[in-house]
Amino acid sequence: MIIDEIELFKKLLSFRSITPYDDGAFEFIDDFLGTQWQVAKLNFGEVKNRVYIKKFGNSDINICFAGHIDVVPAGDGWNTNPFKPTIKNRKIFARGSQDMKSGVASFLYACKHTKNFKGTLTIVLTSDEEGEATHGTVKVLEYLKEQNSLPDFAVVAEPTCEKVFGDILKIGRRGSINGYLQLQGEQGHVAYPEKATNPIQQIASILPKISNKNIDDGDKFFAPSKLVITDIRAGMQVVNVTPNNLKLMFNVRNSTKTTQKEINILVDKYFSGLKYDFRMTQSSYPFVTNKNSLIVQKLQIAIKKVLKIDTKFSTAGGTSDARFFALFDIDVVEFGVINDKIHKANESTTIDEVKALQKIFKELLELF
Ligand SMILES: [Zn+2]
Repeated sequence: MIIDEIELFKKLLSFRSITPYDDGAFEFIDDFLGTQWQVAKLNFGEVKNRVYIKKFGNSDINICFAGHIDVVPAGDGWNTNPFKPTIKNRKIFARGSQDMKSGVASFLYACKHTKNFKGTLTIVLTSDEEGEATHGTVKVLEYLKEQNSLPDFAVVAEPTCEKVFGDILKIGRRGSINGYLQLQGEQGHVAYPEKATNPIQQIASILPKISNKNIDDGDKFFAPSKLVITDIRAGMQVVNVTPNNLKLMFNVRNSTKTTQKEINILVDKYFSGLKYDFRMTQSSYPFVTNKNSLIVQKLQIAIKKVLKIDTKFSTAGGTSDARFFALFDIDVVEFGVINDKIHKANESTTIDEVKALQKIFKELLELF
């Protein structure tokens, strides 16, 4: 199949691949890459994943490009059909144009058309990133480990740039810890507050001390870990009864300096003397790739060559599948188009970004 990178991008955008479905995208990609690639189809329940591997020459190096083909639902407020890519003023509008079919199209095209690369390329694709992510990339990496073919380096082509294309390369991500606290009081008549224990009264003086509180100072790569309250509820929506208990939820996007232990110490400090239950769950752990890693350095060089821009390192944002590569001790970086419309109505990216991203990935392979 001979098509250019923009045709490839438009084709990927036209699949209605809302998590966990691929809507035929994987069969299309099978055809696009062709028979020279060894394919593994790894399906778990409704989730489909693909691994494509090709050995180009005698070098031992194994480089992986990874991404997700799934998108979030379109939602309301679109001016065009979100699954019928529409080009206006060199912008291309469709769900997934930034997050992250631009990245997938760019690396698929670069991998197919690389000229001088002598190592092995591994392409990992999943339809389970925007959902639970339990049957996606992590399962593929377990499979590759069993096969003894984990890659040396990985590039996840999530949209990372902020103001201009090329400005940000992600070399890590913060982790995410959820806290659930229940404060136990004693219900009573509002006219006799002295005869009840009102948990709303109790939390009133604590809230200013914990809300938006920095738990550490951050460092060169991470912003401070901040406790952000996401939910508080108590009461029966009446004005004459004070509530029996209060439930509070919070989240901490944590750097490598903060763990569940530090959060426990903080909660103990401010709630001591009160009756409460507290538990935490951790949905992801923070990681950072050494900035001297070959993949970081060479990607930086490739970006400079194509865009004439000095890229900065960041660890900001939510979680991504890059965390799974870090879990398997693979040096991982993330680089992709500007991220300013992801998950929104009228998501779009520019044709120029996709063309340049594809070139950067090709340059990167030339550098190995
Ligand atoms: Zn994404």
